[in-house]
Amino acid sequence: MNILDEIAIFEESYYQEVEDLLSNTGIICAWIGVYKLIQQQIIRTKTLDYEANTDPLTGLLNRRSFNQMANIHEKSEENSYLMLDIDYFKQINDTYGHSAGDSVLTQVAQCIRQCLRKEDRVARWGGEEFLIEINNCNIDTARIIAEKIRVLIENCHFNVGKHILHITVSIGIANVSAKNQNPDEVINLADKSLYQAKHLGRNRVVSADELAQ
Ligand code: GH3
Ligand code: MG
Ligand code: MG
Repeated sequence: MNILDEIAIFEESYYQEVEDLLSNTGIICAWIGVYKLIQQQIIRTKTLDYEANTDPLTGLLNRRSFNQMANIHEKSEENSYLMLDIDYFKQINDTYGHSAGDSVLTQVAQCIRQCLRKEDRVARWGGEEFLIEINNCNIDTARIIAEKIRVLIENCHFNVGKHILHITVSIGIANVSAKNQNPDEVINLADKSLYQAKHLGRNRVVSADELAQ
């Protein structure tokens, strides 16, 4: 008996079983592969979605995603909008450099978020401008929240490298009422109120009802 005869001592059915096992293993491996591909695709889609909707510096919503959700005000009876702009921000860049400015922007975003509830939304609207939407909130409550944000930032020590900076912000407020149902119009009013706050000397809150007076 040669060595090949010794190896081939198994019955025909044994080879069939091995073949079945191997082909089943192949199917299982294929399913695992498909599952992993789907998982990767879900993570990729979520990442792309996050990147498309988020301001990379501050982690806040970007303007595009804020606008996409603009119809949210229909769910609430009254929403208020706060337009916030950092005062004399250009001087920070000019004196301490652009990355110092970036660090201030990130810390300001954290201060704002700290004063809001989960259901309120904040977007980085432009360079050093932030738009805040406060849900179910009348103009008087909006003014209290805006003051809270303003005072918090005024008293904050912003750590930028080896420097500690102090900054202020100006805030304009407008709210969605019966005659102002269009969010674009309301945001525009908040912007006008902000402009007035700057005009009056900065580091203050102005609401749209004060504009008419
Ligand atoms: P005001 O009190 O009137 O608001 O004056 P300001 O200096 O804050 O406003 P101005 O519009 O003159 O300057 C805004 C500056 O913000 C100019 C621009 O270079 C800077 N800026 C815009 N985006 C960024 C950014 O992402 N990072 C940094 N570091 N600076 C930015
Ligand atoms: Mg500014
Ligand atoms: Mg500005």
